[in-house]
Amino acid sequence: MQSYYEATVSRSSAHAPLAGRRSANVCIVGGGLAGLSSALGLAERGVSDVVVLEAQQVGFGASGRNGGFVFGGYSLDCADLLKTLGPVRARELYTLTTDAVDLMRERISRYRIDCDATDAGVILANWFDDPARLDAQRRLMRDSFGVDWEPVSAAQLAGQLKTRRYHGGLFERNAFHFHPLKYVLGVAAAAAQAGVTIHERSPVVRLQRAGAGFVVHTPQGAIEARHVVMAGGGYARNVYARVERAVLPIATYVMATEPLGARLQDALDTRAAVYDTRFAFDYYRPLPDTRILWGGRISVRDRAPDTIARLLRRDLVKVYPQLHDVRIEHAWGGLMSYARHKMPQIGRSADGVWYAVGFGGHGMAPTTVSGELLAAAISGERPVPDAFAAFGLTPAYGALGLAAAQLTYTAMQTRDALAARRRSARPVV
Ligand SMILES: Cc1cc2nc3c(=O)[nH]c(=O)nc-3n(C[C@H](O)[C@H](O)[C@H](O)COP(=O)(O)OP(=O)(O)OC[C@H]3O[C@@H](n4cnc5c(N)ncnc54)[C@H](O)[C@@H]3O)c2cc1C
Repeated sequence: MQSYYEATVSRSSAHAPLAGRRSANVCIVGGGLAGLSSALGLAERGVSDVVVLEAQQVGFGASGRNGGFVFGGYSLDCADLLKTLGPVRARELYTLTTDAVDLMRERISRYRIDCDATDAGVILANWFDDPARLDAQRRLMRDSFGVDWEPVSAAQLAGQLKTRRYHGGLFERNAFHFHPLKYVLGVAAAAAQAGVTIHERSPVVRLQRAGAGFVVHTPQGAIEARHVVMAGGGYARNVYARVERAVLPIATYVMATEPLGARLQDALDTRAAVYDTRFAFDYYRPLPDTRILWGGRISVRDRAPDTIARLLRRDLVKVYPQLHDVRIEHAWGGLMSYARHKMPQIGRSADGVWYAVGFGGHGMAPTTVSGELLAAAISGERPVPDAFAAFGLTPAYGALGLAAAQLTYTAMQTRDALAARRRSARPVV
């Protein structure tokens, strides 16, 4: 089963594999949004001689498979960001992501990227009958991060989302959703137009130090580069251990229903995208052709499309029982890269390799941030902000880390299920 995104793009320009040996100023490993945003950021700053090497095809990884939500923040939630960095630096890093949301809008318009962008905000729906959760979140975002997430009453929300599952919500206006693969292909096209060379089907197999730079080897070629950027997400293996050891590849899943026509409004009467307040939340949004794109779950296991469709259908029907009989036409998974601290790792290692990894499940705006920061640092405009040094390449402990991540996920799921049950069992007074 092909992903909905792959089924709805035409890859008009294939980029030839690297053949032979050549030199470059900057060699970027990975044609996801982290790598391509860096490439475009460099080109926009007038840096020439930039090469991107992608093992498969542009957007093959998480960047071309995700839920398509574009909003501020990181995988580490804002309360924990504040605890770790204090008010000034936490707000500095958060603001980078809202600036990135604006930059993505601007690039869509400047480069005429046709990516089904729906600028209709995102709703955080409260799974728990506990208004204090939303109040606390709203206060945090307003007082510490300077953004107003507007309250949506239970009655208003019930008018937009035809389900009894939720207890009001918050509306984040400065957010949109889009076809991420079309966007990534658009960024790649803009970078290529500005002089960046992209090679697909060019897996990097070895990175070797050479004088003041590096040699980056693929099976059929090599690039001698002054700068190297590692941006292989959760897919990179056996190239640069210092980065790979610092992230865990974790799978998450998405499906798309058949086009629902008028039935869409029996479930969603909004153009906004939606997620909920559980740790293991559902996320979904209406597509322009009246399908619902639905995502959720986190696992260390890569599952077959049929299994993904079965699991996610169960989640969909729990929220919208009226859609029990819809056909699931696409189901797929993707790998995220998570650091133990849940923040992106953006910077330069002691041996001079630049990196942008660890974006987790919240990566569209943050990969754009990383592209801007690395492009500014490599071009000599300004260094990567100090605050990112607090989130370094800490070891993720491989298989042990994956087992711990799965345990944490299951424990949090159980905690949320118990909290929801306690609340619904409260006597009505
Ligand atoms: C199913 C799913 C849903 C998600 N939903 C959302 C969402 O709605 N909103 C949001 O903000 N974020 C979401 N995310 C997270 C977001 O997609 C990621 O954080 C982001 O795309 C990471 O981008 P990246 O460039 O770091 O990695 P990727 O997009 O994975 O790109 C890495 C690329 O590097 C290539 N590569 C790896 N090794 C090599 C090598 N040796 N040589 C050459 N190339 C190599 C890979 O082939 C791949 O194309 C989701 C993720 C998934 C998987």
